[in-house]
Amino acid sequence: MSSSGSRATSLQKGKLVVISGPSGAGKTSICNALLTQVENAYWSVSATTRPLRRGDVEGESYQFVSQEEFLARKGRDEFLESAEYIGHHYGTPREPVVQAIAEGKVIILEIDVQGGIQIAAKMPESVRIFVLPPNSDSLRARLEGRNSEADDVLAKRLANADGEIAAARDSDCYPYFVVNDILEDTIEQVKSIILKEGACA
Ligand code: 5GP
Repeated sequence: MSSSGSRATSLQKGKLVVISGPSGAGKTSICNALLTQVENAYWSVSATTRPLRRGDVEGESYQFVSQEEFLARKGRDEFLESAEYIGHHYGTPREPVVQAIAEGKVIILEIDVQGGIQIAAKMPESVRIFVLPPNSDSLRARLEGRNSEADDVLAKRLANADGEIAAARDSDCYPYFVVNDILEDTIEQVKSIILKEGACA
């Protein structure tokens, strides 16, 4: 877990917050803002088999592991949830999350829709928010703008987006859908959802 800032908004007790959405929808920017603006908020560092890309920091963005290690950990049931996304494995290490919630922290999971569905089943009290792009052009523009993927990977991520959105809608596992048009507005919206959920948990 990386630590959060100490500003503003406060919650009474531990909470699991799931932020999902297609690649390029702006999840990471939203999560980064939550870490500094929601009191006691912490990031869950996932494990993944995907290669590092520009801006990634080992142990902060992810634990970058081999497929062998990932599958061994999965076999030992060390992940709270896990999924395969465009040929790579991703998983949320269970222990740090369970411990942090017991300590009353707000844990932010930025995970895909398959993971969100698993969390909804296991931890229905979690807050699950799906971030939508204002339109598909904006997804492409954001992915191209971050310039961190090869063209073929970018194309696969874009091709995956419609399916992810449909899966999120069909699953009924996301009580909240927010359209990320203006980032600052979206952050406020997400914060108020978390506060509302925290207050009545
Ligand atoms: P990226 O490769 O862009 O970092 O992540 C690809 C997708 O995997 C994103 O939708 C991201 O939210 C998701 N993801 C990241 N970590 C996890 C995880 O631990 N579990 C699941 N299910 N998805 C994850």
